[in-house]
Amino acid sequence: MTTARIDHAVSSGTFSLDGETHQVDNNIWVVGDDAECVVIDAPHSVDDIMAVVGDRKVKAILLTHAHDDHSRVAPALRDRVVAPIMLHPDDKPLWELTHSDELWDLDLADGTEIAVAGTTLRVLHTPGHAPGAVCFYAPELGCVFTGDTLFQGGPGATGRSFSDEDLIVASIRAQLFALPDDTVVHTGHGDDTSVAAEKAALG
Ligand SMILES: [Zn+2]
Repeated sequence: MTTARIDHAVSSGTFSLDGETHQVDNNIWVVGDDAECVVIDAPHSVDDIMAVVGDRKVKAILLTHAHDDHSRVAPALRDRVVAPIMLHPDDKPLWELTHSDELWDLDLADGTEIAVAGTTLRVLHTPGHAPGAVCFYAPELGCVFTGDTLFQGGPGATGRSFSDEDLIVASIRAQLFALPDDTVVHTGHGDDTSVAAEKAALG
């Protein structure tokens, strides 16, 4: 029986790609117990993240993808907490747009398992919004962290560089709709949803 819990905050900043900049609110998700945790996405402010982490040991900084609004402060957070940044290597071109002079530490792959606080997060590679987009499935917690792959109301945006609309829908059907219907979906922006609700909406 795991004692892991999910903590959450919202961080505000900007998202830039293809020469446009937008104001955005990003979700920060922290999975762990009183002693240790992992951080899912590192958007705009290390202080916003540390307010959720507190004095717990951070075991890893997990990135759902490398868009700047999800990865911008990952290196600064790494310096602060001394934990590896984990990213799917297919997002290297996006990572390099934001971080030209430093790399992440460990590659994620479909099926990678991350242990924290007596529970496990499993990586689902879900390309489409970004080539290296991943979701983190927590079977014992009954939830999945989807980044910008699946939102309340449907798939993430695919209108910009390195995105593919057919691919994101295929990823969602193959990986996310294969999860139990009552799985809670914790998204990269905005409110939670569920696999059942999004399955019904997408048809
Ligand atoms: Zn994104």
